[in-house]
Amino acid sequence: MTNKRSLRLSIATLALAGASLLPFAAHAEGTVNIYTSRQPELIQPLLDAFTEETGIQTEVLFLNQGLEDRVDAEGQNSPADVILTVDIGRLINTKEKGVTQSLENETINANIPEQYRDPEGHWFGLTMRGRVIYASKDRVEQDTITYEELADPKWKGKVCMRSGQHMYNIALIASMIAHNGEEKTEEWLKAVKENLATKPDGGDRDQARAIYAGECDVGLGNTYYVGLMMKNEKEPEQKEWANAIKVLFPNAEDRGTHVNISGMALAKHSPDKDNAIKLMEFLSSEEAQAIYAEENNEYPLLPGAAISETVKSFGEIKPDTLPLSDVAKYRKLASELVDRVGLDDGPAS
Ligand code: FE
Repeated sequence: MTNKRSLRLSIATLALAGASLLPFAAHAEGTVNIYTSRQPELIQPLLDAFTEETGIQTEVLFLNQGLEDRVDAEGQNSPADVILTVDIGRLINTKEKGVTQSLENETINANIPEQYRDPEGHWFGLTMRGRVIYASKDRVEQDTITYEELADPKWKGKVCMRSGQHMYNIALIASMIAHNGEEKTEEWLKAVKENLATKPDGGDRDQARAIYAGECDVGLGNTYYVGLMMKNEKEPEQKEWANAIKVLFPNAEDRGTHVNISGMALAKHSPDKDNAIKLMEFLSSEEAQAIYAEENNEYPLLPGAAISETVKSFGEIKPDTLPLSDVAKYRKLASELVDRVGLDDGPAS
């Protein structure tokens, strides 16, 4: 890697942090530049472990939005080595923008199951989250459920969710299309819409808050938010929201629960490819998978890597085995169906 490119990232990183320090000097072992949409504090423990083991330094540029656009705009001069992001939609976008490169790597391919990798090696999953149903401990007796069942009239006025157009719901609806076809999924969405307590709103945690407040009985949300609420010292009222719900893993008795991933990609113009690959191999290792899963309240993708006690407390997950690259094919249609049925307008009556 040239110092010039390393310097440019350092300045960008520091400018973003509002700091006025001098840029780091690149160490002899090299520096891997990471562009991420994940909160830096969530990945720092991992990067520290990597540096300790290899002597390779890391620098992080955090960009919540427009990560792939930024790498694209930097073109051949981009200092980005590794891109870390969440959601299959974003990983696919990164590939489609043309800012990633294909990687055939025995270690990573052995560690990360095939259904969570791009068939062409442009992205790899790192951790997994289930899209589950939060159900009121007080008002919902059943301990099993299916996504299909959210359309049952018995839930009339009792379902809540965030916008159907949010990427988490788009991936779920895309998986419904993959399994049940377009027509059945459209019918399902129409019925779910009529079961909504109110217009889709807020984030996943707001659905738990609404259940706690008695506004609805069941809501859609990702598993890690339950962990975040349980441990939220800054906003302790969230602990009460978490305590008001139980996690139901939909379709546990048939195809399994829809899951999504956080993942990584090798940047197309990575200036330090060898070290970038070392980092990617490390991130797929048992040690890193356990740290990452613990920090994020997520599931490791490497079979056998440790799951945190918090995540274990939700119960056991049986992931849907449909490859995520297949789910991704139906994202556009899923978005069209959400509009077609007017899901985000809420119930008609
Ligand atoms: Fe999230």
